[in-house]
Amino acid sequence: MHTDHDFEDIRDALRALCAEFPAEYFRKVDDERGYPEAFVTALTQAGWLAALIPQEYGGSGLGLTEASVIMEEINRSGGNAGACHGQMYNMGTLLRHGSEAQKRHYLPRIASGELRLQSMAVTEPTTGTDTTKIKTTAVRKGDRYVINGQKVWISRVQHSDLMILLARTTPLSEVTKKSEGMSIFLVDIKDAIQQGMVVQPIQNMVNHETNELFFENLEIPAGNLIGEEGKGFKYILDGLNAERTLIAAECIGDGYWFIDKISKYVNERVVFGRPIGQNQGVQFPIARAYINVEAANLMRFKACALFDAHKPCGAEANMAKMLAAEASWEAANACLQFHGGFGFASEYDVERKFRETRLYQVAPISTNLILSYVAEHVLGLPRSF
Ligand SMILES: Cc1cc2nc3c(=O)[nH]c(=O)nc-3n(C[C@H](O)[C@H](O)[C@H](O)COP(=O)(O)OP(=O)(O)OC[C@H]3O[C@@H](n4cnc5c(N)ncnc54)[C@H](O)[C@@H]3O)c2cc1C
Repeated sequence: MHTDHDFEDIRDALRALCAEFPAEYFRKVDDERGYPEAFVTALTQAGWLAALIPQEYGGSGLGLTEASVIMEEINRSGGNAGACHGQMYNMGTLLRHGSEAQKRHYLPRIASGELRLQSMAVTEPTTGTDTTKIKTTAVRKGDRYVINGQKVWISRVQHSDLMILLARTTPLSEVTKKSEGMSIFLVDIKDAIQQGMVVQPIQNMVNHETNELFFENLEIPAGNLIGEEGKGFKYILDGLNAERTLIAAECIGDGYWFIDKISKYVNERVVFGRPIGQNQGVQFPIARAYINVEAANLMRFKACALFDAHKPCGAEANMAKMLAAEASWEAANACLQFHGGFGFASEYDVERKFRETRLYQVAPISTNLILSYVAEHVLGLPRSF
């Protein structure tokens, strides 16, 4: 089992790169609701966003474990890996289920930075978490699929070249299991925008470049289908396990950032003639948050190890994500609380990171749905929906 102290070479390299893009950089990007383009370019040029691509396709052939360390270090430095984590988890879908021709065509270009695979379109406005009810359809017409429907909350569309899209290829009424009859496609975003995909940004609490997407008779080449038609839900679950594990690592990075920041502050801030950190009422919430971040970290490495060994990891990936998101939120609360009024000032970065880490109790999957998954699939309790 790996621990926090492993991967020192990766951590050192990431820390050096992230030091060039300090918290002030991400604060400015957040203020402007911009995209950390210079940071993502630097990360790409240094090869980090090609970590999961096998060497024969131009990447470094690392596992999800190492990828998670990269994401963790970005958040731990005060940045936000949300701007670029899509490429890591989408990659798994293409690597594990794409054809040799697709891999040969796309992976070297993604590895070199010529193409970005940062977007994944699953969520829909009328069906939400009930993914098997999605209404976006893909109908085969000769050598093309025609896409109609709508997606919501789709991130990084403006800074990606490719998007993975989940759509129904067989109507729900015609399949024996509701998880069947959906397929995944690689969509060329610029082509799609010219041919029937409308992108409408949604302003929201975090700077996550999220959008509503509308598809009206968008035609995409049949060759852009990933894997077999009808099996897309199964493929996407694999990708979602990677996503949940990587986001657990980001939350752990956030958690350590909050704890480091507040530990330093409470040692220095003197009120009533002594450092506020001398009060146990201040120490205990910080210590408790630290304990929970450390515990979540163990589950994160367990999920990573299972994923990298191609073993089932749905339970561990979900549990890691829930534990880490709750622990980072607990650390965020302590950090904000003990900064007093200063926690609300943007220049301390606490309020930005507080907003950013809060997202992960809702997206990519909400805590209730994780509890429900564990209750049903791990503990064998009756299905509730
Ligand atoms: C900033 C941001 C970025 C995002 N990026 C992407 C992206 O790139 N691609 C993408 O596909 N999606 C993306 N999402 C969507 C995200 O995955 C969903 O918002 C999330 O899965 C929850 O779905 P929903 O919003 O439809 O909530 P709903 O499904 O409507 O649920 C609302 C609330 O009700 C609770 N609930 C629902 N059903 C039950 C139940 N049976 N039992 C108990 N509680 C229940 C949920 O836990 C949740 O808290 C993003 C969202 C945000 C906010």
